[in-house]
Amino acid sequence: MSVAVVIVAGGAGFRAGGELPKQYQLIGGRPVIWWTLKAFAEHPGVSHIQTVIGAGHEKLFAAAIGDLRVAPPVTGGATRQDSCRIGVAACSSAGAQRVLIHDAARPFVSADLISHVIAELERSESVIPGLPIADTIKHAPGGLVERTVDRQSLWSVQTPQGFDLNAILAAHTKAHEQNLQGLTDDAAVAEKFGIKVRVIAGRAENQKLTTMEDIHEADRILTAKANSERLDVRVGQGIDFHEFEAGDGVVLCGVRIPHDKKLKGHSDADAAMHALTDAILGALGEGDIGTHFPPSDPQWKGASSSIFLKKAVDLLSLRNGLIANVDITILAEAPRVGPHIEAMKALLSPLLHVSKDRIAIKATTTEQLGAIGRREGLAAFATATVRLP
Ligand code: MG
Repeated sequence: MSVAVVIVAGGAGFRAGGELPKQYQLIGGRPVIWWTLKAFAEHPGVSHIQTVIGAGHEKLFAAAIGDLRVAPPVTGGATRQDSCRIGVAACSSAGAQRVLIHDAARPFVSADLISHVIAELERSESVIPGLPIADTIKHAPGGLVERTVDRQSLWSVQTPQGFDLNAILAAHTKAHEQNLQGLTDDAAVAEKFGIKVRVIAGRAENQKLTTMEDIHEADRILTAKANSERLDVRVGQGIDFHEFEAGDGVVLCGVRIPHDKKLKGHSDADAAMHALTDAILGALGEGDIGTHFPPSDPQWKGASSSIFLKKAVDLLSLRNGLIANVDITILAEAPRVGPHIEAMKALLSPLLHVSKDRIAIKATTTEQLGAIGRREGLAAFATATVRLP
């Protein structure tokens, strides 16, 4: 029996606050959706993963998936219900008989729970994980208690919810044709059309991240776990100087800053990113940029220095390491770097897989002393602290 998965990631995430939709916020150095996709991508029972994203989220999604192998996303509809229908329809050509539908904002779904839902689908038309309700439940319209509800048979339900693919697609299509709105999960769509839904035991940790507090707590849990597994802490440093020549702007930490000169160099001459790359390579004892990208090689002419940084981060990932923090100082009389620091951090954060509060970028002048003081060029210094297993 082949099983497809629909990951529902269409939400704009306003309830979580923050500048990004919640499924793209970083926890443990990776977007929420990366953890969710990884859980399914690594599960041997899953044959196809179809993500449904929000309109305009194409770039966010492409950046978030990293090297995970998943199908290209489809764009969702106005409601979760619409997005699920679109996602299941997109799966129908993948040749799967069963489909699991899962919220992108539940990154702590375990392999064990996925296996249980798939196994129970052998016996049931539809399977949903749920938790018994521990609190006493009151029915209180307008805030005044009318009665206490018997909680014995009540469940608080989660995802992944499992279905026969053709059956749930037919139910979603009929609900759409009949304009039945406000069905808040896929089981509710199934119930409307007579599909029997079985509840199995969910997992307490499989909670939906809804608020910014949830995001911060998830980040704390994942970071503490990752750190406890990586006790070999190393520091590397990198230094780079580049000369100015006639031009109209410089690139520093990947951000273009308008200026009456440019930096001379074989690549884009991003001295700050070169220093940072050397700092990471230094912490790993893996030589320097020149070792990996010989300046004599014409293919690096005019190249974006993010290629060099990505290589250093890939070497770190190969050793199952993480960046603890980086600290960059740019030494220049001009241009003014300060107004661009936030943009630099935003650009480096996903490349380094760390949150912006682990990236420091500072700028200073040399009080007009020396070659940098005479505006002949600029320099960058960086340290990187990495954690290895
Ligand atoms: Mg350089």
